[in-house]
Amino acid sequence: MVLTAAKAPLELQDAPDPRPGPGQALLRVLTCGVCRTDLHLADGELSARLPVILGHQIVGEVLEGPAELGARAGVPWLAWTCGECRYCRSGRENLCPRARFTGRDVDGGFAELAVADTRFCFPLPERHPAPQAAPLLCAGLIGARALRLSGEPERLGLYGFGASAHIVCQVAAAQGRRVFAFTRSGDTDGQAFARSLGAEWAGDSGHPAPEELDAAIIFAPAGELVPIALRAVAPGGTVVCAGIHMSDIPSLRYADLWQERTLRSVANLTRQDGRDFLALAPRIPVRTEVTTYPLADANRALEDLRAGRFRGAAVLAIGATAD
Ligand SMILES: [Zn+2]
Ligand SMILES: [Zn+2]
Repeated sequence: MVLTAAKAPLELQDAPDPRPGPGQALLRVLTCGVCRTDLHLADGELSARLPVILGHQIVGEVLEGPAELGARAGVPWLAWTCGECRYCRSGRENLCPRARFTGRDVDGGFAELAVADTRFCFPLPERHPAPQAAPLLCAGLIGARALRLSGEPERLGLYGFGASAHIVCQVAAAQGRRVFAFTRSGDTDGQAFARSLGAEWAGDSGHPAPEELDAAIIFAPAGELVPIALRAVAPGGTVVCAGIHMSDIPSLRYADLWQERTLRSVANLTRQDGRDFLALAPRIPVRTEVTTYPLADANRALEDLRAGRFRGAAVLAIGATAD
């Protein structure tokens, strides 16, 4: 399923089989998660190399690759970094200015076959069936990075309860944090879903929190949530914007930032984030809720994501019927 132009539907094409270059593995794509970033790329809110195959949460069967990769591997958003710049040399490869990203700069997993740099793939022991594992690779990874950068909150607010929040909620609750989930107005089903995953309270994002929060993570791409979240956190609290794209943030009153509140973003992932989270997820254990679509229905999956028509995460089931 190929993105040929921004704002155009993905096209089902019969492409030549990719061949792995030096240092690359060839994967038969079992499943690929659908991320809001895919929607931003398809909508042209983020630029991509065109044409490109979207999809950066690949669970693949390794057809050709080094033995240490094992039989099954995950391919995340971070596809390649330079290894030489000040960011790469200081444990911050997520900020490498020359980084390439899966499904944006190199072809991703909305396809039957994919190639990936083996240094950026994660071995995936079969603890999760392939559809349930796919959302761990971005929704889970980036969510866990956002949670880590939120400090050690006792009371954590999650704004937007999609694929990422439904994983972070489980991790935070397992760590003993009190989770407060904020959804679209009137989304009582989403609020019940959040409570079922460990949230102590769930309500509309337009309503005030029932008590002060120590940190908040904003997953929804809505800039108007930034001042709302800042007003919800206590002095010294942190607001983390976890998405790659957000509508403009309205002007802030300094009083809402005053008292050592912190506002920050989270960008991409490091390989260490991936190793850490994939080791943590089965210990919780994180249970992802997925809605699966055939590859040819990728456009429908993107539209359902836009409209909030499913709970948890959307996943394209490509070569994974046996799972
Ligand atoms: Zn993503
Ligand atoms: Zn670099």
